[in-house]
Amino acid sequence: MTHSTDLNLSLFERAKALIPGGVNSPVRAFRAVGGTPRFIARAQGAYMWDANGQRFIDYIGSWGPMILGHGHPAVLEAVQKAALEGFSFGAPTEREVELAEEIIRHVPSMEMIRLVSSGTEAGMSAIRLARGATGRSKIIKFNGCYHGHADSLLVKAGSGLATFGHATSAGVPAEVVQHTLVLEYNDVAQLEEAFALHGKEVACVIMEPIAGNMNFVRASVPFMRRARELCTQHGALLVIDEVMTGFRVGLGSAQGLYAQQIPGFAPDLTVLGKVIGGGMPLAAFGGPRAIMEQLAPLGPVYQAGTLSGNPVATACGLATLREIAKPGFYEQLAARTRALIDGLAGAAQAEGVAFCADSEGGMFGFFLLPQLPQNYPEVLKTDGARFNQLFHGLLERGVYIAPALYEAGFVSAAHTAQDIDATVAAAREVFKMLSI
Ligand code: PMP
Repeated sequence: MTHSTDLNLSLFERAKALIPGGVNSPVRAFRAVGGTPRFIARAQGAYMWDANGQRFIDYIGSWGPMILGHGHPAVLEAVQKAALEGFSFGAPTEREVELAEEIIRHVPSMEMIRLVSSGTEAGMSAIRLARGATGRSKIIKFNGCYHGHADSLLVKAGSGLATFGHATSAGVPAEVVQHTLVLEYNDVAQLEEAFALHGKEVACVIMEPIAGNMNFVRASVPFMRRARELCTQHGALLVIDEVMTGFRVGLGSAQGLYAQQIPGFAPDLTVLGKVIGGGMPLAAFGGPRAIMEQLAPLGPVYQAGTLSGNPVATACGLATLREIAKPGFYEQLAARTRALIDGLAGAAQAEGVAFCADSEGGMFGFFLLPQLPQNYPEVLKTDGARFNQLFHGLLERGVYIAPALYEAGFVSAAHTAQDIDATVAAAREVFKMLSI
């Protein structure tokens, strides 16, 4: 394609003149993998089409929300009806109550819930609530887990245990992150030591139960169990960030899966986003009544939003949740996702490429490594150049995976067995080139 006929390229040039990096969220810019981002014109089912009219099988799904695929008829109908009734009222609606009921029905650790518009807002508000409810300042997070771009959460580990974090972004004063302690994921001993040293000052531990921001790394069952025990012992809150995993890995979300293996397991606070909005700006946080009633207008912890509980977004989320609650939905989604990673593993093996993969429900991750990493430093052992070759090889063949090796992938209910087969066939061609 010549420069003048590549509409992605000309749009990117226009965008870069007006929007920093040409994008409104950094990972879209293809900085890690190089090349021109695809400007998406439309999407339907499992497919997206770019400005040049090229079709892609979409394994990003708007970074998680599109669990039914794009343009599901029941969701479209609900959104169209809601739009006709009004875009936003800034007043309570029945649909917010219905959505709260529907979410809590499936994730009963939340007795009360508050709706917001993004995962960042939900995570930030949950932290404020944890601090307000406990009267403590320190928070523990884990290296490689992302909880949105709130200042206090943009921190990476300092060297060694009990070194409080350094901001990973310019513009975050040291004073703001001085209370954020960053530990290695899945490291029980570090967590115990941190609580031994700082237990009385810790407001909360926040973690992704399956870390989708370092591709796909599960919290081990002993790690999750110990985190729960230590929080309870020391009066800290366990905050599970299910923005990505919520309603994605199962109807009961990741906490439901851990509860099957850890009797009585429940977080104190849960953070949700993505799937509960079905592709519209909607997120939430929730927990026990006694904690949630600390929020304004009942309690002293302030939190608010002009567009919170937006009527079109809640219609989209509610219609999505009603579809995914139908019997057999997750069994089929999980089987299709499993078929994808098994197919990819088979293709890699046939071409002699080191490969490992894992999935839960409709979320998956794979690594060009011989075995699954347990934490962020292990994830970083992936050869970035090889991943980039794989990414571009797949993209050229009409398969769109995340343009960075730190990101999980998503299968939707709209992906067919033929889509999976076509993806595996494309991957095998690319693996052949990788093995040379
Ligand atoms: N938490 C997790 C686990 C996430 O994956 C993300 C976004 N990918 C967020 C929080 C932030 O959500 P948002 O981008 O909607 O602000």
